Amino acid sequence: MLISTKGGQAWLIIFRANMKKEKYLVTSALPYANGDLHIGHLAGAYLPADIFVRFQKLLGNDVIYICGTDEHGTPISIKADQKKVPPRKIVDKYHRRIKSVFEGLNFCFDNFSGTARPVHYKISQQFFTNLLKNEYITTHTNKQLYCPNCKRFLPDRYVEGECPFCHSKEARGDQCDACGKLIDAIQLINPVCITCGHNPIIKETTNWFLNLPKFSDKLEKWIESKTEWKDNVKKFILGWLKSGLKERAITRDLDWGVPVPLENAKGKVIYVWFEAPIGYISSTIEWAEKIGKPEKWKDYWFDKNTKLIHFIGKDNIPFHTIIWPAVLMGQDEDYILPYLL
Ligand SMILES: [Zn+2]
Ligand SMILES: [Zn+2]
Repeated sequence: MLISTKGGQAWLIIFRANMKKEKYLVTSALPYANGDLHIGHLAGAYLPADIFVRFQKLLGNDVIYICGTDEHGTPISIKADQKKVPPRKIVDKYHRRIKSVFEGLNFCFDNFSGTARPVHYKISQQFFTNLLKNEYITTHTNKQLYCPNCKRFLPDRYVEGECPFCHSKEARGDQCDACGKLIDAIQLINPVCITCGHNPIIKETTNWFLNLPKFSDKLEKWIESKTEWKDNVKKFILGWLKSGLKERAITRDLDWGVPVPLENAKGKVIYVWFEAPIGYISSTIEWAEKIGKPEKWKDYWFDKNTKLIHFIGKDNIPFHTIIWPAVLMGQDEDYILPYLL
């Protein structure tokens, strides 16, 4: 980089002497451990973050750069079922490959973890338990397809059948590619379990939901106060908030994932969208353990002076400005909220 030339460094040292040291916690979107990275990924959430972190380090600021692979969700389960291997095998393979790409390109992560590790399970379950105790979680019972042969509820992508709208025979449980309509899996005509080929039945199941409407006022106040955000981002997010938030399911009937830490939730895991961003925290905890200062992660996540910066793709903005901050607000501890993204 240009700023690493000798003259530049001298200038930076002079500049630094007059500056108050700043503190940053920088994260990049967790790559999904289901395939390889491509150049678009690198140019989007990783290269800009790497440049930012190196620059802050040169300025002498206190900065750590945290990342890891996102290792749950149905695409991974399906791939594992198709290849007849445990999901962990798929995840380990792509974690290794993704990590080696980053190492080969000399990215400066302080820690690169993965969300299928015990440290992540523990803190994700703690997040769930806190939200439940603080009355931010509700339960709802609905109808879902269940395969009597596989003895499990089938997530949308585990089912195929005839589209109830255009009668294409190849509709999936969430969408029909022929007519483009979104489908609720129980609407499919002659549904088939893609794993075993049997016909699933309709059965009731209970899941846990994050009560997002309860956070509306707090979120609105917080977003209004964000002078660092671009106006168009703020307007967009506030508009979404004003149109009314809905409760969102945070558990699923699946084997692969973080188990729901409740006696009456056997066979259910925490929904990947809920636990994946907690990976920013579990990866920081892992970093602190690695450097032999296991409490050090708290110096970042609980210090109001830390600027938390998420480098993410555009489509992830609503999630990181509404849902993720709500999850953090609902905890017992005083976690910092995103500063910039
Ligand atoms: Zn089946
Ligand atoms: Zn259709």
